[in-house]
Amino acid sequence: MKNESLYNTLCEINGAENVLRNEPMNKHTTFRIGGPARLFCLPRSAAQLAGTVEACEKAGMSWYILGNGSNVLVSDSGYDGVVIQLFHNMEAVRIEGCLMELEAGVLLVKAAHLAAKAGLTGLEFASGIPGTVGGALVMNAGAYGGEMKDVVREALVMTKEGKLLRLSREELELGYRTSIIARKGYVVLSALLELKEGLQTEIEGRMQELKEARTTKQPLEYPSAGSTFKRPAGYFAGKLIMDAGLRGYRVGGAEVSEKHCGFVINRGDATAEDVMKLIRHVQTEVRDKFGVELEMEVKTLGF
Ligand SMILES: Cc1cc2nc3c(=O)[nH]c(=O)nc-3n(C[C@H](O)[C@H](O)[C@H](O)COP(=O)(O)OP(=O)(O)OC[C@H]3O[C@@H](n4cnc5c(N)ncnc54)[C@H](O)[C@@H]3O)c2cc1C
Repeated sequence: MKNESLYNTLCEINGAENVLRNEPMNKHTTFRIGGPARLFCLPRSAAQLAGTVEACEKAGMSWYILGNGSNVLVSDSGYDGVVIQLFHNMEAVRIEGCLMELEAGVLLVKAAHLAAKAGLTGLEFASGIPGTVGGALVMNAGAYGGEMKDVVREALVMTKEGKLLRLSREELELGYRTSIIARKGYVVLSALLELKEGLQTEIEGRMQELKEARTTKQPLEYPSAGSTFKRPAGYFAGKLIMDAGLRGYRVGGAEVSEKHCGFVINRGDATAEDVMKLIRHVQTEVRDKFGVELEMEVKTLGF
């Protein structure tokens, strides 16, 4: 059987304990939503990752790279393919002078704290973004006036065919919540960041300020995937949603956060269907009232 033979190959590459069947995706997304992935694989090195992708391609099975799942909504029926999670595993960090080399699975929060400890400034903006380096690079994650584009010098990526490419900042084509990685379906293996010397106390002070700003303004007490929509040119998504009278609007367990209308939150028992219905309603209302299209920032899987 095709699936059984792929399962066995993935076990040989990654070790049986690192290949899970029917793994519930609500355990691996910050929305805490999502049905099972047929297979869930945890490579611990670039070689295992390359082998895993190659085996999936050969078997004609779809695969999906997952970081911390902080920008993904997985459908209630799950994903009929192989989810390859880099978070928890590919987490090596090397600091030399002002350069910081990070494997794709390192959490940005951890990277920002390590940078501060080493007296390196530039990554403070990322200290509250709950994603991995890989996810942040694909999305060109940003906050409070900073973005990955400002700090990345180059990245090592792998093509679907297993070819390794070292891409410079320019070649990464980092734009608003996008990159060439997303467009070409590359996999990020590692990133080299270039920071500047700074004072640890000042860096940590700025990170604390940003943490307080987030805690005050964002509904961090509920599961979510952060900002649901991209910022439309000339507007703020949250303000448009609030002005459309949708603050606190609910579908099942999904709600437009009362604290920050740009966030859809899971009140505890939301399904992916609830979230999608809510998103469509918000898009329709904002289009009808203001003529503005809200494009989803959150990625969907298994729909
Ligand atoms: C409370 C909260 C606050 C947030 N605040 C911000 C914010 O201020 N700014 C911001 O930009 N975002 C924010 N986000 C969204 C999210 O944290 C970022 O988009 C983050 O960069 C996603 O990283 P991740 O590792 O969780 O990626 P995932 O959600 O796992 O994946 C996101 C996309 O990246 C792809 N991907 C992940 N890793 C790799 C890899 N190694 N190679 C190739 N593709 C990969 C996935 O396939 C998917 O398409 C927030 C989310 C939450 C829940």
